[in-house]
Amino acid sequence: MTSEVYAADWVLPVVSPPIRAGAVVVDGDRVAWVGSLDELPERWQGVDARRRRGILTPGLVNAHTHLQYTGFDEVGAGAYDSFEDWSDAFGRVYDVVDPASWWPAALAGAREAVASGTTVFAEIVTDDEARGALGAVGAGGIEYLEAIGQFERAWAEGGRADYLAWLDAETAFRRGVSPHAAYSLDGSVIRELIEIARKRGLRLHSHLGESSVEAELYRHGDRRVLAAYGDLRDEFELVRTGGAGDTTGGYADSVGLLCETMHVAHAIYLDRDDRDLLLRRGTRVVLCPRSNAVIGLDEAPVAAYLREGHDIAVGTDSRASSPSLDLLADVRELHRIARSQGYGDADLSRRLVRAATLGGARAMGLDAGGYGVLAPGGPADLALFDVDVNGHDVEEALVLAGAGSCVLAVCAGAVLHGSA
Ligand SMILES: [Zn+2]
Repeated sequence: MTSEVYAADWVLPVVSPPIRAGAVVVDGDRVAWVGSLDELPERWQGVDARRRRGILTPGLVNAHTHLQYTGFDEVGAGAYDSFEDWSDAFGRVYDVVDPASWWPAALAGAREAVASGTTVFAEIVTDDEARGALGAVGAGGIEYLEAIGQFERAWAEGGRADYLAWLDAETAFRRGVSPHAAYSLDGSVIRELIEIARKRGLRLHSHLGESSVEAELYRHGDRRVLAAYGDLRDEFELVRTGGAGDTTGGYADSVGLLCETMHVAHAIYLDRDDRDLLLRRGTRVVLCPRSNAVIGLDEAPVAAYLREGHDIAVGTDSRASSPSLDLLADVRELHRIARSQGYGDADLSRRLVRAATLGGARAMGLDAGGYGVLAPGGPADLALFDVDVNGHDVEEALVLAGAGSCVLAVCAGAVLHGSA
């Protein structure tokens, strides 16, 4: 087996303290050894181990993407004042897209993200043409197939059959189930999707608490969050019944959406009781701060999530609402928001590095496979950031200056960006 030694000023295993002048040995697609370059075992001492500048980390885990929208950068470059306002602009472009463009867009997005250090993706696939892009570029993760806009009648009259045929089609890549959101699917459809995933042993990923008016639908049937569905809005159960009289978290829980195999994106408009409910159910949150800012949403309660003991993850969301797919730019933004919300603890950068690696892997149930950390036996997913630590805390240097600095990305032992 061919061995490679990747040595750098600093190695961040995530599960143990940073190693100065560290090295990671890769054998095939697995990590064989992690430690100080000085202590490199004899069997690998003949391998070229030139020490590189910067910080070597596990491949980053982007816990919320929609790569098929990589060509939607004009929508993402706009400024909006609400989720509904942004949805409107998004819908005008989505409705006229040539389906043949989804595949090249998803490939381009995957490559862009890999070039900034991401090797594992929680990727939501809405249109079949985009399926398989992660595997095609050599990246890892889960493709969550999305069910959206399904009220009971549509689901019964073909929605269910189409979804199952799609989900169960042969694929070489890990698949998951994405009920789009608690508002865009009837409760009975969500319950069924959770059961479909459970029977197949698949992970789940959804959106929750992204719109400032979403809670009003669950509470008393307010249709505003469903603006994109036009006249079809009246078919949704919550509109017909005048709401469930419940909070966002309470309603999501009542239809089975909050469970251990689920992680939810955005989680902005959740109060303390809702957040505690997520914790009790083992449902993790993935925060996407730059996307939220473009859409004109409030900032997520980042400091509260950290203080209340959530093991958060980070996502870029898509180019339809984010200026880039560089995960560390979102990590830097989370740092700024957490400090502005009064989180003063010294562990902030360490927790954010963890969120962008192990936190994401846990949200997807991939930590059991060794993703999100650097440890012997784990997958050989690595990223090197050309950051000058220069007296800083190493994790803080990565959080504040890591964006735009990725010079190497290795996935399952293969160099996908930079040179070995
Ligand atoms: Zn999303």
